[in-house]
This record gives sequence, C-alpha cells and structure tokens, in this order.
Amino acid sequence: MIARPEKLIAPFFSDLVWRMPAMPRGVYFTFDDGPTPGVTEQVLDKLDAVGGKATFFALGKQVASAPQLFEKIIADGHSVGNHTMTHPKGWKTNSEKYIRDIEEAAQWITSPLFRPPYGKITPAQIRMLKPKYKIVMWDVLSRDYDPRLNLPKAAKYLETHIQSGSIVVFHDSLKAHKNMIPLLSAAINHCRKQSLPLLPLPMDHGPTE
Ligand SMILES: [Zn+2]
Repeated sequence: MIARPEKLIAPFFSDLVWRMPAMPRGVYFTFDDGPTPGVTEQVLDKLDAVGGKATFFALGKQVASAPQLFEKIIADGHSVGNHTMTHPKGWKTNSEKYIRDIEEAAQWITSPLFRPPYGKITPAQIRMLKPKYKIVMWDVLSRDYDPRLNLPKAAKYLETHIQSGSIVVFHDSLKAHKNMIPLLSAAINHCRKQSLPLLPLPMDHGPTE
C-alpha cells in the first residue's frame, strides 16, 4: 500500500513544538549551530543588556571546541538544547546513525530539548527521539544564514510575525553573524516596544499543552 506522504507525516506533526502558549506573555529566541567564539559572546551581551533569556541549540562539535563559552551560556541563565554533533540532514541519514550523532552530542549537552538540523526529520526519527526529547521547531525564521538577505525586509518580517508565544530562530554561527546581529537588534527592539519579555524555553519534557 502506498500512503500519501502528508498522511504519514501529519500524525507526527503534533509531536513537534512549533510555538509556546501566548500566556504568560513572552517570546522565545533560539540560537542554533553555536557556540561560536566571537559571535556567541555578542549575543549574550545583547540579551544581558535587556535582561533577556534565550535558548541555545548547540552543536556537540562546537561545545567540544569551546566548552567554556557553553558554560557561560548556562551560567547566564539561558536554556540549552541538543542540535546534534555534526549537523546531519535527517531525511538523508539512516535513523540509527542519526540517533547515534545525537547521543554523541548528549555527552556534551545535557538537555531534554532537541532541534533537528534544517528542520528535517523523519517520522521514524521522531518516534525514536520522542521518549527522551521534546522536539522544538519554530514559527518565525530569521533567515540570517542567507548571504543575499535584504536586511530591512528581513527585519520588517520579524516585526510583523513575532508575537507572544513565538519561537524565533537565529544562528550564532560565523556564516549568519553579519545578518544575525542587526536582526537580533531589530527583534529585541520590537519586543521591548510590545512589552514582550524574552524567555528561555523550559527545559522539561512534560506535555506542552
Ligand atoms: Zn542548524
């Protein structure tokens, strides 16, 4: 029997976290692919300046090369999540190999939160990870990694789409650095104007409803 792909995926969609409840009011900034020396410190300073907290979906290989920077993230009161060891594409990676990559990262990153690289994950992989991890997606993507990004347009997009409960994706990576800093500033200003506090994702694995 051949099932249509959306029918296969649809039941698993609700296993993923796409946004947080709108109440209590707050916005959930997330930073993927770090920690990156020279970049992550700037993010921490910007958040600290407004008393904001966020969530860092770290790569195991990055934590292994900058363990003190990762410790600083935690010491500053932010949440952390597992973003794999080597950033494989779920759709193109054998599930056992994919899970092994995440378990290797878990030796560096203690967290019940997981975000799949590229947001690409198969139903089988979701099923395997579900007992141990809350799988966190997003509702607002900054596209800071795009070298051809139109910055004013991208900032406008963030201001239009960020609302209470939003999970926003940035990257504390070298590739995204140039775009990420101004976009982060725009997003922080927007949230201040709207009186939306910047909150860390809770590091629990309970039901999200
Ligand atoms: Zn990533």
